[in-house]
Amino acid sequence: MKELTCNCGFTVKNEDPSVAEAKMWYHAIDDHIEMLKSMTEEQLVGWLTETHKKLGLES
Ligand SMILES: [Zn+2]
Repeated sequence: MKELTCNCGFTVKNEDPSVAEAKMWYHAIDDHIEMLKSMTEEQLVGWLTETHKKLGLES
């Protein structure tokens, strides 16, 4: 079971790491669109890299 927790405390869980990541993106776009828009490209890449590491995916 893969688990990701958002900065706001929202948690997603799924057997499939790709699905867990997709769910986290869906949450971020749904609840934190302003934050995403204000992030730089570099910050987004850093966040993705960290997410992939947590999930054990290749980044
Ligand atoms: Zn959140």
